[in-house]
Amino acid sequence: MIGGGAAGMMAAIAAGQKGHEVIILEKNEKLGKKIYITGKGRGNLTNACDVSEFFDNVPRNPKFLYSALYGFTSQDMIDFMEAAGVPVKVERGNRVFPASDHASDITRALEKRIRELGITVRLNTGVEKLMVEDDREDPDGRKINGVITNARERLSADAVIMATGGLSYQTTGSNGEGHGMLRSLGLKLTQCFPSLVALETGEDDTHELAGLSLKNVGLMVKSGKKVFYEGFGEMLFTHNGISGPLGLSASSYIADKLNGDKTFEVYIDLKSALDKDKLYDRICRDIDANPKRELSFLMNGLLPKSLAAVMEKRLGIDVKKHLCDVTRQERLSIVEILKGFRLTVTGSGPFKEAIITRGGLDVREIDPSTMRVKTVSGLYVAGELIDVDALTGGFNLQIAFSTGHLAGSSIE
Ligand SMILES: Cc1cc2nc3c(=O)[nH]c(=O)nc-3n(C[C@H](O)[C@H](O)[C@H](O)COP(=O)(O)OP(=O)(O)OC[C@H]3O[C@@H](n4cnc5c(N)ncnc54)[C@H](O)[C@@H]3O)c2cc1C
Repeated sequence: MIGGGAAGMMAAIAAGQKGHEVIILEKNEKLGKKIYITGKGRGNLTNACDVSEFFDNVPRNPKFLYSALYGFTSQDMIDFMEAAGVPVKVERGNRVFPASDHASDITRALEKRIRELGITVRLNTGVEKLMVEDDREDPDGRKINGVITNARERLSADAVIMATGGLSYQTTGSNGEGHGMLRSLGLKLTQCFPSLVALETGEDDTHELAGLSLKNVGLMVKSGKKVFYEGFGEMLFTHNGISGPLGLSASSYIADKLNGDKTFEVYIDLKSALDKDKLYDRICRDIDANPKRELSFLMNGLLPKSLAAVMEKRLGIDVKKHLCDVTRQERLSIVEILKGFRLTVTGSGPFKEAIITRGGLDVREIDPSTMRVKTVSGLYVAGELIDVDALTGGFNLQIAFSTGHLAGSSIE
């Protein structure tokens, strides 16, 4: 087992449960380093939605995950935690957390089972190379023999599961070494991009909004007429763009398209509860009730102060203008800007700030019913190393657990 993250630990457990002798090789000083920082330290370990709804939250290669997710469901993960003495709770949007609010409890549950099964854990042990030989029984195929560690130790194995993670938050250990090992076997990897990451936008006037969080807004990302993402909920302005649940989700739909020739625009609906006609009527009512107040009074009633100031500049209407003098055309412009505050996407945050990596081992290299690499017998993969990724909500950890479970239980 290479890598002792979420996928690696679960794979080791599944293989151990089948009676295999398992060794986890983890280059860090402890297991599950990334798990500690998941869910802002609270560990959103899975999502308790139906399996079919689960797939709606997987923008990248959902079909590849059928066997894995039906074979080890979010309910199986919840049962696993509770059997290990870690109760869980379900929050808004079916997000599942340890009842303690401590992500470390997820690792504690996995480590408990690892100990019970007598699995050997070797920490501070990085793997540098896979040992592969031609498989005499299959003229086109190869067979795994074992691994070579960073201490030049050769460890033989009948099967190897790679769960070395993606490229995100590399300080947790996932720095792409696994990608390199797979590439050196001639396997195809898709290009990697940071995903579930803040989007950078080009407008100078939004810098002063940094830190402003908005609830109940609509957010749409378009390129020309094509809509790439539409969502409703919470968002956050950063010093150079947008983040928060909506910003992160939006990144998941365009992360791999940002360096191409497309230009993406974000439209924020700041008054999503009202359609344009109702919003127009509301503005007219406010104006009629306060004819001698200035435009800034109206805007501050509709929006947080910092955002109202940006809007006023964009509208180009004198903020000192009395409301009774605001024309029909100006009122319509206010409606337009509130229903579609526009930003231009210029890029995304870096891997070190990305919750997940888009890209990895091409799913066509892997048998989805076992997680075995098709051309190398005995070599299995699991987790973020594979070119699958999902939205926030516990889906990514569940993918790691489910693919890990499938890989571990598929070893013959
Ligand atoms: C800030 C943050 C918050 C997140 N929050 C959530 C959340 O709340 N819910 C959710 O579902 N998902 C969340 N995720 C995503 C989730 O953490 C990952 O999808 C998941 O951890 C992937 O598991 P993995 O085992 O595939 O990879 P990793 O957890 O990255 O584990 C890979 C392991 O392999 C080891 N390794 C790498 N190379 C070698 C080598 N050559 N030799 C030996 N060992 C090696 C690494 O040290 C590491 O321990 C979050 C991610 C981040 C960054």
